[in-house]
Amino acid sequence: MVEKLTVLVVEDEIALAGVVAGYLEREGFQVVQAHDGPTAVELAESLRPDLIVLDVMLPGFDGVEVCRRVRHFTDAYVIMLTARDEQVDKIVGLSVGADDYVVKPFSPRELIARVQAMLRRPRSTPASHAVTALGDLVLDEESRSVTVGGAPVELTRTEFDLLATMAARPRLAFSRRQLIDEVWGSDWYGDEHLVDVHIGHLRRKLGDSVADPRYVRTVRGVGYGLGSG
Ligand code: CA
Repeated sequence: MVEKLTVLVVEDEIALAGVVAGYLEREGFQVVQAHDGPTAVELAESLRPDLIVLDVMLPGFDGVEVCRRVRHFTDAYVIMLTARDEQVDKIVGLSVGADDYVVKPFSPRELIARVQAMLRRPRSTPASHAVTALGDLVLDEESRSVTVGGAPVELTRTEFDLLATMAARPRLAFSRRQLIDEVWGSDWYGDEHLVDVHIGHLRRKLGDSVADPRYVRTVRGVGYGLGSG
């Protein structure tokens, strides 16, 4: 029997947490609930869930702080629940490590679709080559690791997936929508600026420069591509 994937649902509205947990359980996930920030971090550390659904406004400390703390010990996918669409920069940007967000009020089906798309991801990484080199940047699809000049770079799964998607077709310029289709799934909708936020983190971790890029270049009017352009 395949081991069940575990989802940690962090939401202080108990009724909503229960609804979300119920939907996830019916889809075959093992679900654990936390109703405040400190408990969420404890459970994330002891249970090592595959994915965390994380409300922003929580007692104790908020979801952004939870995300920051759990990133020290897990690369689990994190989907933030935000109150407003315009919070995407703040939530995904400042929390440095959330992979996706869903705006409240949301339909449980929408959230489940996001969860499933995300947990399908590692197996669908386009792996035409196990190892891709771009100058001194080396990306290993099998171990999902990246090095620059031989030094390991710690990427979140989303950052890795973005890089791997572009590395699979290094000559191509990708639109934000294409990157969303490949990484978040073609049924994802929301603020495509999400891509820019993750590309920003990716560049920072690779030590890349926007003005004089070595790895990730901005393609004016299109989106992003690999190479110094
Ligand atoms: Ca809340």
